[in-house]
Amino acid sequence: MEVLVGNEHGLHARPAARLVGLVNGFDAAVTLTDLDTGRGPVDAGSLSMVATLNAQQGHRLRVGASGPEAAAALAAIEQLAKQNFGDEPAGSANVPVPAAVSAGGSGLDVAIGPAVLAGDAADLDGYVAGDNEPGRLEDALRTAADDLQVLRDGSAEHGGIFEAHLALLTDRKVLDAVRTAISGGESAPVAWKQVYDELASTFEALDDAYQRERAQDVRAVRDRVLRALTGTSTEEAPADGILVVPELDAATAATLDATRIAGIAVRAAGTTGHGVIVARSRGIPLITGIGDVAVPAGTTVAFDARTGSFELAPDEQAVRATIAERVGERRRALEEADQPAVTRDGRTIDVLVNVGVLQDAVDVRGADGSGLVRTEVLFGDRRTAPTVDEQAETFRAIARALGGKPITIRTWDVGGDKPLPFLPQAAEANPFLGERGLRVFRHRPDLLRDQLEAVRRTAAETPVHVMFPMVTTADEVDWALEELGPRDGLEVGIMVEVPAAALRVATLARDLDFVSIGTNDLTQYTTAADRTNAAVAPLADGLDPAVLQLIDHVARTAGVRVAVCGDLASDPQSAVLLAALGVTELSAVGPQVPLVKARLRQADLGLIDTAAVLAARDAAQVRGLL
Ligand code: PEP
Ligand code: MG
Repeated sequence: MEVLVGNEHGLHARPAARLVGLVNGFDAAVTLTDLDTGRGPVDAGSLSMVATLNAQQGHRLRVGASGPEAAAALAAIEQLAKQNFGDEPAGSANVPVPAAVSAGGSGLDVAIGPAVLAGDAADLDGYVAGDNEPGRLEDALRTAADDLQVLRDGSAEHGGIFEAHLALLTDRKVLDAVRTAISGGESAPVAWKQVYDELASTFEALDDAYQRERAQDVRAVRDRVLRALTGTSTEEAPADGILVVPELDAATAATLDATRIAGIAVRAAGTTGHGVIVARSRGIPLITGIGDVAVPAGTTVAFDARTGSFELAPDEQAVRATIAERVGERRRALEEADQPAVTRDGRTIDVLVNVGVLQDAVDVRGADGSGLVRTEVLFGDRRTAPTVDEQAETFRAIARALGGKPITIRTWDVGGDKPLPFLPQAAEANPFLGERGLRVFRHRPDLLRDQLEAVRRTAAETPVHVMFPMVTTADEVDWALEELGPRDGLEVGIMVEVPAAALRVATLARDLDFVSIGTNDLTQYTTAADRTNAAVAPLADGLDPAVLQLIDHVARTAGVRVAVCGDLASDPQSAVLLAALGVTELSAVGPQVPLVKARLRQADLGLIDTAAVLAARDAAQVRGLL
């Protein structure tokens, strides 16, 4: 039989897992051959084989089957292929407001609760192999399958993910490899881990960035079974626990139940990764860089992100007192949130909110609009590009939620650590220095044009600004303005995130209305420290005087309105410094907006010795001066 691969990303991990799960339900041997690449035949009952066949959209597959239930298997596969292997068909998704994302975090930067370990590799050291390792493996597989079924049936949102995880448990080839390793003398967990690590690497080596990310699914299943084998408790967070994770990816941060956890402690350092940004925008207290301190599951831990402290067995009374103090501070800030932020020396600073999901705009208090709508985050879960109408509808909803105040829509900022499922990108040795942001759309102007059309439609009804990310040269600005066409009152700007753009901002801004400094990227490019690499996180400090000198240069020479929408603007103390340097608009994560405003009201910008700050030796000295 021949079937067509209709899915946007081809037979990537999840549809492949569905196919494999289906095949393994029949008493039949099924093979697949990609007629367009000539690869195959491969065993269709093995996920590792099917996914790495790497069949792309539009490819034709020859499906062969033999055995007692061959005909039934073929019929079922034909049906599944017709349904895009369970992927959502192109253009069928609704306005993307992930229901799982909601506020609920306290926004206090301080938390106390029992430690919940997640994502930590299960500790295999204490495991003692017995004489029935195959039996233990089967028990663990059953436990994992039972848990996954409960998760699948209980989650309309994420059911598909757990369905795919279930299928990953039943990969014949992979299970054979595990069983062979066990009969060769390995313990069940060691055998299981080896084989699944290898499978994850296979995914990581694929061409398509979206497919590569699916290695996360493999690792999640690997860890679930390892936890079952070693008797480590599952990852379900008890109410008010503190989640301790090695790293925080954006998907996890977006789907965590913020009403069930008190905070997140991330072992890796760094505050500008997108997972951290998402968690902070949801008001979840979060500390990064706690390192590899041993945290026994269930012990009471506490942290204060403002002072950078993380404690095991803390003085509960002292922590509760800090929490009470912060609650008071927040209450006062919220009471005045709707008042403008006027400094003591009479300067008005606009404080806006960064929006990654509609909920950010709904939950915020006191924002003077949005200074950054991250469109690639807004539509980041889409497998197909949103239509002009869908985009315009979402932008309108954001503007409505902000009471019709101006919103600044940033065009697709794909690349780096933000893959867009509907815009596959080739692997790059240095993605942050590669095709990122505006650079990508020189080859895909169609996607940019659609977005600009959606921006224009929204602008006809409500105040809208548009800005382009990752700009380096004047040619890029000219090209973007040409693509935009007539401005019709639309305010147009660029992000300043590349040192070259900061240094020649006057040239780049000649035909613009504003520039907005992305301090997250400006910091990583100035300090040459990858924002996602924990090992160099201490270098990537937004208060490094070198970064501040560039901001100062931009504020003095741009000749147009200067905003900051990077996360430095979310820190009340740094926000005051930015204002003193001449920045008149700050865009912060929602929960920080009232606090930034409150702090600005207490400040006399004329008293801040910016010269001393700019001449400081390092970020630590800047903090001391502040
Ligand atoms: C920045 O780089 O500071 C910024 C605001 O953009 P993003 O964090 O989305 O890269
Ligand atoms: Mg950026």
